Amino acid sequence: MTRTFLLMVSALLATISVVSSVAAAQIDVTGVRAWPAPDHTRLVFEISAPLEYKLFTLDGPERIVIDLKDARLRMSLPKGTVGFVDKLRSAERNGTDLRIVLDTNKSVKAKTFLLVPNQTYGHRLVVDLYDKSANSSSKVKNSRPVKQLANSGLRDLVIAIDAGHGGEDPGALGRKGTREKDVVLQIARVLKSKIDKQRGMKAVLIRKGDYYINLRQRITLARAAKADMFISIHADAFKDHRAKGASVYVLSERGASSEAATWLARQENQSDLVGGVSLDDKDPLTKQVLIDLSQHETQNDSHSSAKEVLRAMGSVTRLHKKDVQQAGFLVLKSPDIPSILIETAYISNPTEEQNLRSKAYQTKLATAIVTGLKRYFALSPQPGTLLASVTQTSTSHTISRGETLSLIANRYQVSLRNLRATNKLASDRIRVGQVLVIPRGT
Ligand SMILES: [Zn+2]
Repeated sequence: MTRTFLLMVSALLATISVVSSVAAAQIDVTGVRAWPAPDHTRLVFEISAPLEYKLFTLDGPERIVIDLKDARLRMSLPKGTVGFVDKLRSAERNGTDLRIVLDTNKSVKAKTFLLVPNQTYGHRLVVDLYDKSANSSSKVKNSRPVKQLANSGLRDLVIAIDAGHGGEDPGALGRKGTREKDVVLQIARVLKSKIDKQRGMKAVLIRKGDYYINLRQRITLARAAKADMFISIHADAFKDHRAKGASVYVLSERGASSEAATWLARQENQSDLVGGVSLDDKDPLTKQVLIDLSQHETQNDSHSSAKEVLRAMGSVTRLHKKDVQQAGFLVLKSPDIPSILIETAYISNPTEEQNLRSKAYQTKLATAIVTGLKRYFALSPQPGTLLASVTQTSTSHTISRGETLSLIANRYQVSLRNLRATNKLASDRIRVGQVLVIPRGT
């Protein structure tokens, strides 16, 4: 009995080793896709299973070499330049391995990782190439000065529009094959052109093409554009194809409070986080309090704007939920830019999928969003903007918990002395619910 058992075990082991050696020799590279973005180029290799690989960089001329263990190329590599890559070449190595060489047209830094299968794609090896000469954060930061209107010195309100997903991430899929990443980019473009036609408003697109931008980077780009407002555009999906309607989200309380700590931990993001107040010279506790206050105020603004946008959308489309929803979406986590996420419709619902593809519907939706935004900015004029000077003779501000007079003065860019005098305040003590008149800034 023992002997039989041992035989069985050894037979089993033999089978396993055969299987694994066969499997090892059988990783096929079946496709490659390229997604050129302004600041990076992403190459995605389709592979039949996860594999071992090594990547290194060579210069003179600049190239990236990727050695794939036990892999074979089952396709011909695409020709021609795409993004930072001029040419793709391949060769067999050691009889079992595959070498892929990327001739690049600039000095790049490469990052690689494996992706597991999703709804659309199987196993993948991703190679991201970043331009070495571009110091992305500092360059981006100063690239877009806020447009000043020549005569008045008043600036335009800046709306950052973020089309969700992109590139290798298609987002949700409709039954007719409509991809969320495509329709939300179309809607984002329509929305931008509507906003740009408004006096005193302009829009910037965070994603301008079919490529993916990391979520934190989307926030960074909005801050670099000095956005007054961040709007992320998405389409919903659900197993039940009857689910329908639009929703508007803001960041949940819990997401917000955990985020304050994260920003605090990241030194480079701290200055000018709180309405231009540098936090460098503040002690940790004061910093925490200031960031919390800023985030609290941003949350309130996000909620008010979401409410107006939802209300306006309700007149052109069915709403999935009548109230503003809350969730921990990472992309909404700016501590200083009011941020909302719009689920424009259910792409999984056949009628709404059709709507999402229709130019007429996209236009109707974008017009409604603009109406909501204008209502919001009329109720909460942003100091120093043309729109505020047109719509506002004086502003009022209702004190919420945790606010101080100096924080309010800072927010509206008026002097503390002016604020005190306008409201005939004998001291800096204010109470929750008290309404202050905000003098016009200079
Ligand atoms: Zn989405």
